Amino acid sequence: MSQRLSGIPLSPGIAIGPAWWLETPVATTGHSDIPRNPETERARLEAAREQAKRELAAILADQQHALPPESLAILEAQQLMLDDPDLLQHVTAAIHAGQSASDAWRSATDAIAAQLSALPDPYFQARAADVRDIQQRVLRCLGGVAEEAVYPTTPHVLLADDLVPSQTVTLPLDRILGIALVGGGPTSHATILARARGLPAVAGLGRALHMIAPETLVILDGDRGEIIVNPDEATLVEARAQQAAWHAAQKAAAATAAEPGQLADGTRIEIAANIGSAADARAAVQAGAEGVGLLRTEFLYLDRVTPPSTEEQFAIYQEIFTLLEGRPVVVRTFDIGGDKPAPYLSLPPEANPFLGVRAIRLARQQPALLDTQLDALLRTGYPTLRIMFPMVATIAEIHWLRERVDAAIARLTSQGLTPPPGLQIGMMVEIPAAALLAEHFAAVVDFFSIGTNDLAQYTLAADRTNPAVAALADALHPAVLRLIQHVVSAAHPAGRWVGVCGELAGDPVAAPILVGLGIDELSMAPAAIPAVKAVLRQWTRDAAEHLAQEALRQESAEAVRQLVQAMMPHR
Ligand code: PEP
Ligand code: MG
Repeated sequence: MSQRLSGIPLSPGIAIGPAWWLETPVATTGHSDIPRNPETERARLEAAREQAKRELAAILADQQHALPPESLAILEAQQLMLDDPDLLQHVTAAIHAGQSASDAWRSATDAIAAQLSALPDPYFQARAADVRDIQQRVLRCLGGVAEEAVYPTTPHVLLADDLVPSQTVTLPLDRILGIALVGGGPTSHATILARARGLPAVAGLGRALHMIAPETLVILDGDRGEIIVNPDEATLVEARAQQAAWHAAQKAAAATAAEPGQLADGTRIEIAANIGSAADARAAVQAGAEGVGLLRTEFLYLDRVTPPSTEEQFAIYQEIFTLLEGRPVVVRTFDIGGDKPAPYLSLPPEANPFLGVRAIRLARQQPALLDTQLDALLRTGYPTLRIMFPMVATIAEIHWLRERVDAAIARLTSQGLTPPPGLQIGMMVEIPAAALLAEHFAAVVDFFSIGTNDLAQYTLAADRTNPAVAALADALHPAVLRLIQHVVSAAHPAGRWVGVCGELAGDPVAAPILVGLGIDELSMAPAAIPAVKAVLRQWTRDAAEHLAQEALRQESAEAVRQLVQAMMPHR
């Protein structure tokens, strides 16, 4: 009998095929051994670390061209973790306190994974799996035994609890049609891989996924976020037709991804990428990004014991900017604090981190943190640098931030250096108060970029990290669209441009509405670029404006989605 399971859509497309259950390798988490003298244990640990490093280096060399840059970045991060002085200090201290190398390594890495899992941000929760993966590798090198994963020899839809990076390396992608997960989430490693490879994927299907017998025929629908087990003939025929249409559309989109973003009537729309590392920058350029609309800089601040220095930041910005070859880049100053704590900040825990001391609120409490970042950014002299401030709520904040920039420019010029010639200063619109008073902000900033992830969470009072209410925070809700429209109508008369850098920008359903509302730039995950460019080529400015006006009049996000389907131009 046919059965449907619903989860969270992770990566679009339809996969049809027999099911294959991927067992998570049970490595050596439970393995413990008898402590010997600390010097012997330290030597064992050193040898295991060296072996793990060699293994990772070999995989990286081997897979350089086979794996997407995001996966390579995770493996590179694991390499760095093996040399993390803070972690090694903890492990060594535990060894000297009498623990074996395995126990010391396991408990220190467990602590990091637990810290990451406890953070509300799903991105960091997903990184816990990466930490556990490197934990396993070292434990195996210390003498534990890991089970080898068994893979299918013919094409299958992969079912798993979740995927860890080391599985990804050995996964025979040519035989994987799609990925269905019991857990996982929008930023898990499996998602990154599936999106980069264009594999349909669904997460959060729950324990019911375990009930699917191996080789059972399934349809995995990455757009709707569901899996149909044992489909009847009519469902199968319909799914095959949808799949064929999807493949054709993907092929056409990839062939034209390098062309500039524009509408059917030639109106230019800048299509940019959201990035958070040098590997992302490479992926963005490859995917046809015309610039970077959001460089998230949190990665510089987390998982460490001291804040990053000007020199350290400068080197990383230089590396990323060089890869962008002159394309404009919007760098967002740190959005840490609140739900993304850093131990060295000594911030007290908060009952509502999303309403607490995060981003520029933290900068106002600890200005030296911000000054260091501004100094590093300005010193790059990157001609098309744009600096953007997150979580701005009041005019007083943006005046204060501009003063900090002016002071940083003065410090730079006093050293005989010149600031970036095309420097622009902008703000994110993530708080409804900022959207509603956009005309006042337009007098102080050069541009706006709308963070629809937070704007939706604050407008609909729905915590974006709580699965129980996450669906409420749909950024296509007409209330959010009206705020976006208000920002554009305040910004354009003042000569300011407006981008969208929340997830909504990379949603092919939303893109024509945003353009119809007058948005000048859409910034999204690199992998979303070809499809969004392809969709926009089907719309004229007039048709998109008409669609947007109708969308503003709807009563719900669902109604807006239906409207787009109904008004889709047929070419
Ligand atoms: C947003 O809020 O839409 C955004 C882009 O910022 P982040 O997702 O990093 O909070
Ligand atoms: Mg945000």
